[in-house]
Amino acid sequence: MQKYIQLAIEQKMLHAKIIAPKDMVFDIRALLKCHWGCENHDNQSFKCQKRNTTFEERLQMIKSYKNILLIHSNNGMDVSRAALEIERQAFLDGNHLAFAIRYCNLCKNCSVDDDKPCIQPLKVRPCEAIFGIDVYETAKRHNLPCYPLQHKDDVQNRYGFVCLS
Ligand code: SF4
Repeated sequence: MQKYIQLAIEQKMLHAKIIAPKDMVFDIRALLKCHWGCENHDNQSFKCQKRNTTFEERLQMIKSYKNILLIHSNNGMDVSRAALEIERQAFLDGNHLAFAIRYCNLCKNCSVDDDKPCIQPLKVRPCEAIFGIDVYETAKRHNLPCYPLQHKDDVQNRYGFVCLS
């Protein structure tokens, strides 16, 4: 697992840590905020699709992994790109169920946000919120920064999860 921490650092992550589901905070209110507090509140966005999975199934999916890489950066695009690259490498290493969970920020200008088709749909991964992951509390549990921004120029703290094995 150390290899993936190193890979995350090479991918410009500020922090990377192997955790287990018991080290994460799950709260169905994350889904509440997703449904009512997000610009994609109608859940029609390609980035927010649940693809016929129930909340219980999604929880079971993520809780079936033993090793999950938590990654942190100040740049959302870097997190999305790193998560996919780590997922790819883990798969090639034989972790055939490796899977990134990360709201999609892969493109500088997202065509989906402009009501156009996604330009690389196979690379889109699900958002943390639909799994009920409380990213704020999970980050806090690992002494990592995550708090509501007070000004638009404040430094962002963005997180992703790569379920490895
Ligand atoms: S267009 Fe790019 S940023 Fe938007 S959903 Fe597709 S891959 Fe993600």
